[in-house]
Amino acid sequence: MIAHNNNGLRYYTFESFPANRVDHGLYTRLGGKSQGPYQALNLGGTVGDRPEDVLTNHQQLFESFGRPFESRFDVWQVHGKTMLIAHQPRPRNQKHQPADGIFTDNPEVTLLMRFADCVPLVYYDPQKHVVGLVHAGWQGTLQQVAAEGVRMLQEKFDSDPEDLLVGIGPSICGHCYEVREDVYKQFLNAFGADADAFFTKREGHLYLDLWLANTYTLHQAGVHNIEQSNLCTAEHVDEWYSYRKEKGITGRFGVVIALKP
Ligand SMILES: [Zn+2]
Repeated sequence: MIAHNNNGLRYYTFESFPANRVDHGLYTRLGGKSQGPYQALNLGGTVGDRPEDVLTNHQQLFESFGRPFESRFDVWQVHGKTMLIAHQPRPRNQKHQPADGIFTDNPEVTLLMRFADCVPLVYYDPQKHVVGLVHAGWQGTLQQVAAEGVRMLQEKFDSDPEDLLVGIGPSICGHCYEVREDVYKQFLNAFGADADAFFTKREGHLYLDLWLANTYTLHQAGVHNIEQSNLCTAEHVDEWYSYRKEKGITGRFGVVIALKP
């Protein structure tokens, strides 16, 4: 990933995404207005932070990103596998729709999602000129939401999985993410014996590698151009929010993507 500093904010981009065709940014928590555990660029509106600070942070992010705040399309991320197409920006008075994947071919739309340990999956089809974001926590990963995003692109935009670029953004790594035994059982049910590769046992504790599970799912769906950020949120709370490391009281960082006109 490439790090950028702009207007006091710091964000990363994937090297494989062509900067002349698509704008994207994985924004760190640095440079925003929020205080305490939400410090500083928190974009989560339902995590206990001051609403006026969250709104300022959103506006600051869009200013840094160089696109109008009014171009924003975001959703209520619910750990499911509903995919939506954003034909237009979300009107400010319209409620968030529940979904965990958003896609657009409209350059007037900026897609935005929020994260703190869950896996950000960033999609670009350079042939059909479509972008997307998918949110994959353990529940989404179990439901193979990464492949749901690929299916959406195939069905609605006639994408060929071979063409797709997918970036795996900062999220909790397989060394840090301890899970319960029943999570392992659910993965065995969904993935069969292949699920064994996603888990490791250390001193009686079980750990899940969400990066590996999502990479496996993307491969199965025919995607091979995958860029892995290898940035662990739990190990880098100086730059990212980590729900697990910060014991549930923390903010959400923003991931944005938009097509160049
Ligand atoms: Zn880690």
